[in-house]
Amino acid sequence: MADRFDIVVAGAGHNSLVAAAYLAKAGYRCLVLDGRPVLGGNVVTEELTLPGFRHDSCGTAHVILQDNPMMRDDELGLADYGLEYIHPEIVCHAPFLDGSWLTQYHDIDRTVEQFAKFSKKDAAAYRRMIAEYEAVKPLFDAASYMPIGFGKPVNDRLAEHPDGRKWLRRQARSAWEIIRDNFEDDHSRCFMLWMALQTVTPPEWPMTGRLAYSLVWGRQHWSWCIPKGGSGVLTEILVRLIEDHGGVALTDKMVERLIVENGRCVGVECADGSSYRAGKAVLSTIHIKHLIDMAPRELWANDFYDSVETWQGGPTLFVQHYATSEPMTFAGDGGPITPIACAMLSEPTRALRMGYDFARGAANVDEPVLLAVSPTIGDPTQAPPGKHTIKIIGMQPYDLKEGPQHWDNIKHEVAAANLDWLRRFSPNLTDDKILASVIESPLDLERRNPHNWHGSCHGGAQNAAQAAALRPAPGWAQHRMPIPGLYQTGSTTHPGGSISGGPGRNAAAVMLKDFGKNLDELVAQRADRAAQATAPA
Ligand SMILES: Cc1cc2nc3c(=O)[nH]c(=O)nc-3n(C[C@H](O)[C@H](O)[C@H](O)COP(=O)(O)OP(=O)(O)OC[C@H]3O[C@@H](n4cnc5c(N)ncnc54)[C@H](O)[C@@H]3O)c2cc1C
Repeated sequence: MADRFDIVVAGAGHNSLVAAAYLAKAGYRCLVLDGRPVLGGNVVTEELTLPGFRHDSCGTAHVILQDNPMMRDDELGLADYGLEYIHPEIVCHAPFLDGSWLTQYHDIDRTVEQFAKFSKKDAAAYRRMIAEYEAVKPLFDAASYMPIGFGKPVNDRLAEHPDGRKWLRRQARSAWEIIRDNFEDDHSRCFMLWMALQTVTPPEWPMTGRLAYSLVWGRQHWSWCIPKGGSGVLTEILVRLIEDHGGVALTDKMVERLIVENGRCVGVECADGSSYRAGKAVLSTIHIKHLIDMAPRELWANDFYDSVETWQGGPTLFVQHYATSEPMTFAGDGGPITPIACAMLSEPTRALRMGYDFARGAANVDEPVLLAVSPTIGDPTQAPPGKHTIKIIGMQPYDLKEGPQHWDNIKHEVAAANLDWLRRFSPNLTDDKILASVIESPLDLERRNPHNWHGSCHGGAQNAAQAAALRPAPGWAQHRMPIPGLYQTGSTTHPGGSISGGPGRNAAAVMLKDFGKNLDELVAQRADRAAQATAPA
């Protein structure tokens, strides 16, 4: 290709697209390459089952993303491209085996009333925990949406806050301990534990304490927030923005090798034999486990290499997509209800058995812990009139004791058991209402996207050993890789997985700094221009 590009972006997940969008706005020409036929990684909407049924193949909830300054202040002008969010009034419905339920509403007073059905003390605890987290949330956000080393680490920020010492202890504890100690009733505990699980981290792990607050706060504040048109609308818009600034995005370009000249990364080579050179830098969202095989061993610093070798995949998901002729329907207050999301956790200690199942490499369909989400409830345009898309997500280990390949033998059996469990609460979803289905085991998730290494939807475990300044490797958390000219973004970097855009914005901030520019100034210029455009003549 005769075209000249400043930045070659290897992999088109939402984070690398976010980074490329900031770089494009700063005047750099970006070439984005992805190995798949569709851009967007885990943030894509595809007709997986039948024509007209637009399924979010992986991520649906854009809750965490809303706190990114990119969204909060519309720094990239994505609203001008038509990015619009839907915030359903019923956030999530948790049905229980005894026939009762707890519904979370976007209106906090209604949610608190639901807790009060089971315990007045728990109702007060819910309101208190939401308020407590809100008071310190800006400190956590500031640390997440800032590259490592650019500002104070979160513990230093907490130490300066009047309640900071309490939070130093809270975040070091497990979500399980916090929920057990704050709630007395098992229904309340189930709901809170299930929420704390939403970033696929077992609630008994140390350093999960904040998740007992942050995930439920996010759903309470933003609801089960989805983009109009499907999850993939976000990445489609980011690609359009990059192209509008002179960039190019190519599909079916699996990067296999880094081009290194005079010790500097200057481009990439793809599986089809094509190669692309970058005038300034290469930005990768290739999984670090694959990246280190794409350049000679001696070019990687020893400590970086060691950290990648010891990287852990962590807990993994099992996904079922359905096209249906009816919505999921549950017993609720005032009669049948059709929520966008359903939380299934049979009893509190069931949440603790998941970590054990992962350790012994066993698929477990005994009272499975499930999320069922139906974006068509919030946005009916995602399926033909009156029809629905439903996605059931469970946690199952990639590493079965028989080996990951065994998933191909058992996935339909596991899917059937999960669907039966959902039917226990939504009995209307009989076989005749199911028009088509697609099942993806943890192994299939890795086949779909090589960045889902060992099935992990977050690039790897989000535990104390792989968080913040230790992600992806101690000493290498600033997006600059050991080979000069090569930068890393995506969920293997701080602040990790989920649809947050954090690793993308942070990587852009580091790269712009290295190029002698400043992301905050870039953003302020746009804000000034917007203010001038709207000022009265
Ligand atoms: C089933 C499922 C449900 C989820 N639900 C949610 C949710 O509701 N809310 C939420 O916040 N998060 C959710 N997540 C997690 C979230 O979607 C991911 O953590 C996040 O999207 C990862 O983004 P990323 O930018 O790191 O890269 P990815 O989305 O992983 O994209 C990486 C891209 O790089 C490409 N690539 C990799 N290697 C190469 C190579 N060698 N050459 C070329 N291209 C390459 C891949 O093809 C891919 O397109 C879910 C994930 C899954 C799997």
